[in-house]
Amino acid sequence: MNKKIIVESVLILLLFTVLFLELFWSDYSVDIILRAVLLLIAIALGLYVIKNFYEELEYKNEIKALRKKVERANKELQRLDNAKSEFISIASHQLRTPLTATKGYTSLILEGTYGEISDSVKNALGKVYTANERLIQLVEDLLNISRIESGKMKYNFKKINVFDIMASLDDTFKLMAQKKNIEFKMKMPNKEIMVFVDPLKIREVISNLIDNAIKYTEKGFVHVNVECDEENIKIIIKDSGIGISKKNQEHLFTKFSRGKNSARLYMEGTGLGLFVGKNIVEAHNGRIIVKSDGIEKGSCFTLELPKVKK
Ligand code: ADP
Repeated sequence: MNKKIIVESVLILLLFTVLFLELFWSDYSVDIILRAVLLLIAIALGLYVIKNFYEELEYKNEIKALRKKVERANKELQRLDNAKSEFISIASHQLRTPLTATKGYTSLILEGTYGEISDSVKNALGKVYTANERLIQLVEDLLNISRIESGKMKYNFKKINVFDIMASLDDTFKLMAQKKNIEFKMKMPNKEIMVFVDPLKIREVISNLIDNAIKYTEKGFVHVNVECDEENIKIIIKDSGIGISKKNQEHLFTKFSRGKNSARLYMEGTGLGLFVGKNIVEAHNGRIIVKSDGIEKGSCFTLELPKVKK
């Protein structure tokens, strides 16, 4: 039993005994009655205090048991989470090999390496190629998630000029925007801006942000502006697309989160790109900020990264 309770119970019993003995030290009946009343009050209060002590002890024991239960549940959850990450990682690695082979052979057939093919076959094969690319991206996202969650994401940091990351994106997305009849402009300052990043991973993040801007814009524009101040470089991607409600903006960077109206424009979306992007950018001490005045009011994503100072 709790030491504190034993000491407090003994003291209360001692008090009762003293008050009880005091009854016999008086010769006056009024005095005896008063002392008896005092004893009764002390007994009532003492019992109340002892009861509270026991209740408190029970409560503490309950909390201890609950804490143990929560700790056990946490460990079990962690074990399940690790098992899940491991499963995704193994499954994704197994999927990647055949997908890469499909990509290679499809592109060889499309290029005519195995002989001339008709336009209808080219057309069908083009669709196979695009679907395969989507699967490759999904597998890559799942692999990235399992790496992020198991803390095994590896970064290959390098000092690089932002221009070298952005230049190749310009051509790729100009073409994509042209196909949708959307104006695409990229503006960069005419000077060297050095950052210390994993170029491939950061390129993937920017690429996903621009890709989203074009995907979720039906008409109008997508403008990419690169700006910088003393501390940071900012890559601002603004579009005139379907916009994002305030409620959706709060959950946008969590796994599998998609805006309500986005499936209409892009059914196959997974809601993984922004989650992976946010984690990669945070590993670079940067951040992604989203702004939108609401549905149908366009969106603006800003990627901020610390600059390498001269
Ligand atoms: P995905 O595009 O595959 O669904 P992302 O994680 O890249 O996955 O994006 C998550 C969601 O964020 C999208 O489904 C869409 O609802 C919303 N979103 C992202 N970018 C934009 C944008 N530029 N305009 C409107 N909605 C966007």
